[in-house]
Amino acid sequence: MTTSNPYRDLPSVDALLGDERVRALSAEYSGDTVIALVREELDATRDAIGRGQAAPALDALVEAIEKRARAALTPTLRPAINATGVIIHTNLGRAPLSDETIMAMTNIARGYSNLEFDLEKGARGSRHTHLEEQLRRLTGAQAAMAVNNNAAAVLLALTALASGREVIISRSQLVEIGGGFRIPDVMAQSGARLVEIGTTNRTYLRDYEAAIGDETGALMRVHASNFKVVGFTASVSIAELATLARERKVALIDDVGSGCLLDTTQFGLPPEPTPQASLEAGADIVLFSGDKLLGGPQAGLIVGTRAVIEKLKHHPLARALRMDKASIAGLAATLDHYLKDEALEKIPVWRMIAMPVDDIGTRAQGWADEIHAGVIDGRSMIGGGSLPDEGLPTRLLAIPTDGGSAADALARRLRENDPPIIARIERDHVLLDPRTVDPGEDAAVIAALKATVN
Ligand SMILES: *Cc1c(COP(=O)(O)O)cnc(C)c1O
Repeated sequence: MTTSNPYRDLPSVDALLGDERVRALSAEYSGDTVIALVREELDATRDAIGRGQAAPALDALVEAIEKRARAALTPTLRPAINATGVIIHTNLGRAPLSDETIMAMTNIARGYSNLEFDLEKGARGSRHTHLEEQLRRLTGAQAAMAVNNNAAAVLLALTALASGREVIISRSQLVEIGGGFRIPDVMAQSGARLVEIGTTNRTYLRDYEAAIGDETGALMRVHASNFKVVGFTASVSIAELATLARERKVALIDDVGSGCLLDTTQFGLPPEPTPQASLEAGADIVLFSGDKLLGGPQAGLIVGTRAVIEKLKHHPLARALRMDKASIAGLAATLDHYLKDEALEKIPVWRMIAMPVDDIGTRAQGWADEIHAGVIDGRSMIGGGSLPDEGLPTRLLAIPTDGGSAADALARRLRENDPPIIARIERDHVLLDPRTVDPGEDAAVIAALKATVN
């Protein structure tokens, strides 16, 4: 039987709250939460009726409220298995952390600490003291500090050193890093005026010389990170820029992006600029991320001359961009791995880079043996805007599908697994790269494969 007004068929909030299954939710949820869940479901149901759907039966409404309640306590942010082979995957949380880093973060998060307290003097201290010595030792800088991320480091450096003045940068370096981070936009935010020089493919020292004037606050170099200019190209080295900057008394800022402290060529990768090389070549300050090739928590690190770092530490923006105490503790623990020369064994990003391809092949074969699939050669990517289009040779689990949307459907089922598994698709095959999967997760991957592939 249909009534003329389906809205009237809906039970009231009170009637639903009186249902024993809804009442049972109060064992786990506050009274206000249960009321909110009931209201949300009724609102959604009225919207559905407005779109022409019939009013649901009471049982269906109650089940929907129970489902809503379960979802309310499921975190939206949860662990996932990265089988894409992209090591520093920005969408999947960038660098996984070492055990020591996680322990240091937990330890400081749990209680009070001397974050901004000088234990010797019994007086206020500075949070910048906790990372400075390590960063100085590792990079050879006079002074160092850390902020929330490298975008913040770029904003702080440009604001403190060149607000209201000109910053000279090559057209080949006006880059977009991803997620809407564009160097020209950040410069506009800082109040510095952008002076573009050279061309997309060629910039010479004389271009910089001609552009420097009374209004110049700084020369800036930005590492191209996520793309390569190849062919008929010319650029100016940081050493040449440093000589010019010193002669003309302007600051030289080098954004190297990735924060690579180790030599990447030992793994057959091209060289990645290191902060220590930039400083040695004469940059006044060098900026880089904490959670790309450095392999630590999210951070923006700034190393350079004492005078410049002091200026940055005391700029009002430094307070707005400051790092959280747990991240400071974690970064300190990650930096320890470099000081102890154990980065390749302890830091997950470097462990993955250094992983022998034979070991990866053995694991891929172990996965393949459990289902109907093969193992093929492929390449893992560094990601995070580091070392574009180079990669590391790897072995991939390759699951054939019937084509069409079948590969998409399988990739989706893997994403629906708990924990979600993120794979990639190439030519109707779903590909999984063991390099970026922690060996401790192999059992979970195999269980998911057996449940989803057939
Ligand atoms: C990644 C990157 C940034 C942004 O760093 P975040 O830590 O993500 O804020 C800035 N500059 C360069 C050159 C980069 O590669």
